[in-house]
Amino acid sequence: MEGFCPMGGLATLPKVISAGRAVCAVGEAALAALVALVVLSLLARKAFCGWFCPVGLVAEWLGRLGARVRGKKCGVNDYGMLRPAQGVDWWLRWVRLVVLALVVIFTWQASELVFRPFCPYYLMTGFVGHDIASWSYPLLALVLLATTALPLLWCRYLCPLGGAIWPLSGVGLLRLDRRPEVCNDCRLCDRTCPQGLRPSAVKQVTSGECLLCLRCLNRCPRPGALVLTACRKWKVPGAVVPGLVVVLALFAGLGSSWVWIASYEWESSAPQQAATEQVQLRVQGVKCAHSGKKAAAQLEKIPGVQRIEVFASRGILRVSYDSTRLDERALRQALEAPLLDQESGSLHFGVFKVIDVTR
Ligand code: SF4
Ligand code: SF4
Repeated sequence: MEGFCPMGGLATLPKVISAGRAVCAVGEAALAALVALVVLSLLARKAFCGWFCPVGLVAEWLGRLGARVRGKKCGVNDYGMLRPAQGVDWWLRWVRLVVLALVVIFTWQASELVFRPFCPYYLMTGFVGHDIASWSYPLLALVLLATTALPLLWCRYLCPLGGAIWPLSGVGLLRLDRRPEVCNDCRLCDRTCPQGLRPSAVKQVTSGECLLCLRCLNRCPRPGALVLTACRKWKVPGAVVPGLVVVLALFAGLGSSWVWIASYEWESSAPQQAATEQVQLRVQGVKCAHSGKKAAAQLEKIPGVQRIEVFASRGILRVSYDSTRLDERALRQALEAPLLDQESGSLHFGVFKVIDVTR
């Protein structure tokens, strides 16, 4: 699932820029999702968190559950939110940026998704996936439990992706305007805001934390008191926000099919032959840069193989070879041959299987 997460795209971006390589199982889809997220945040603020992110959804449900259990008695809004003192809340929000810096730096250095054992999205969708540690699920349970007392704890204080789009969402084009001449100061909008914002206290909601969830607008009893606007000039229908989310998600899906970023490349030092042919092998067993490198190693030792590019997120090896010495059958046989484990010296059978060949 990490292959589709914009956070994976953000973590791998420095490696793509510095070395032209994708990291681990992350590839084009995650990078396209990142581009779509940047555009979405510049247009519709934190609409990704409010309308798309599955972790945000679970966090919100848990917040409501906690509020119901406590009878909403000790909260500042309908979610039973226990908001820390304003200064503490402001400082805690910077923790996300520390997490973000650590994730990006360590992923760049290790060329691995070091954040995976901590990531709620990966843990909730990957179950017993790669790299999950024995403490990963107890840690997730702790965060989810704390979320029942402090709704959106992860989103507000710990999520590195939320930290990354915070400055972008602050300048987002779409905003909520409050018209004081229509507003009756009932403060229902404040009570319904999952982020603990106070639309009733401002003329315009400029906070970078606004999810554009539009709950405040829908709850407001005075039509026209809260208005969604673009550039403070044009009134915009609320449906535009989820519409933008859908359009940009489709863009990310299509965009990822246009761009190819290799996870590993190898080139033979032997002189290149004129009779070079190229073939694409879709290989079962290639799931990440590491397994792709192992598959490529099966071919590197074959005389006549000239160049190999591994696209791990697609499970594809693109191979250039001397057609006077090799053919597709020989490449397939070499890939599907038993794999020698260098450490134990044992042979592993059926590690890779070619499931499709295209030219
Ligand atoms: S809910 Fe509407 S009328 Fe009530 S305070 Fe908010 S903007 Fe004003
Ligand atoms: S309730 Fe209103 S102010 Fe609060 S996050 Fe949603 S759109 Fe923004």
